[in-house]
Amino acid sequence: MATAEAPRVRAGKWQSETRVGLVRRARKINRILAETYPDAECELNFDNPFQLLVATVLSAQTTDVRVNLTTPALFAKYPTPEDLAAADPEDVEAILRPTGFFRAKTKSVMGLSVALRDGFGGEVPRTMDELVKLPGVGRKTANVVLGNAFGVPGITVDTHFSRLSRRFGWTADTDPVKIEYEVGELIPRKDWTMLSHRLIWHGRRICHSRRPACGACPLARLCPAYGEGPTDEKTARTLVKAGPVS
Ligand code: SF4
Repeated sequence: MATAEAPRVRAGKWQSETRVGLVRRARKINRILAETYPDAECELNFDNPFQLLVATVLSAQTTDVRVNLTTPALFAKYPTPEDLAAADPEDVEAILRPTGFFRAKTKSVMGLSVALRDGFGGEVPRTMDELVKLPGVGRKTANVVLGNAFGVPGITVDTHFSRLSRRFGWTADTDPVKIEYEVGELIPRKDWTMLSHRLIWHGRRICHSRRPACGACPLARLCPAYGEGPTDEKTARTLVKAGPVS
């Protein structure tokens, strides 16, 4: 983690950026993303914390679109943790098959339903410590639930968030927990949940893993990784996706 005025190791003009400069630039990026994606939100559909918890577990290794196509049948048949805990695993597997890794996911969502039924009176807990004790639930899932179902600010470090925060020079780390804490020191706590949505939206639409659309990016002037993708506007525009995509 950078100390007060320690220069951060990055290429070109960013090499001598101070801690204060980094914080200012991070907040400016957050503001521009807020203007660019005023509708940014969780792209998983849910009606209550239990549904969001299950949908987030199911979203591993697949798209939110795919999860949203799958969960209505699941929640119509098993609307509560008690219902899902008592389900026939084969039936749940059949419903979850399109999301991939359906046997492991069935085990996770049924396991967490049993834990909710037996340990929390069928209610999803509202703290990180309790959430991460549920089977199949890590900090990422817990932060999604805290931020979007309970209004408790949380940073969700998924693959997009991780890649973009490194491209922005906010962190050099690859460990999600370290990234969460490092970015948390740059951006005010109240913005953490929305920042997560904004980075994920930007990663899905413009700042792709391969061939980011740098020439069509509103952050071009503020991004040390500008040039990692095509800078020619015409080419870059063809790379921009409308979303929701992945
Ligand atoms: S300038 Fe390029 S690398 Fe930087 S955020 Fe934009 S698309 Fe991503």
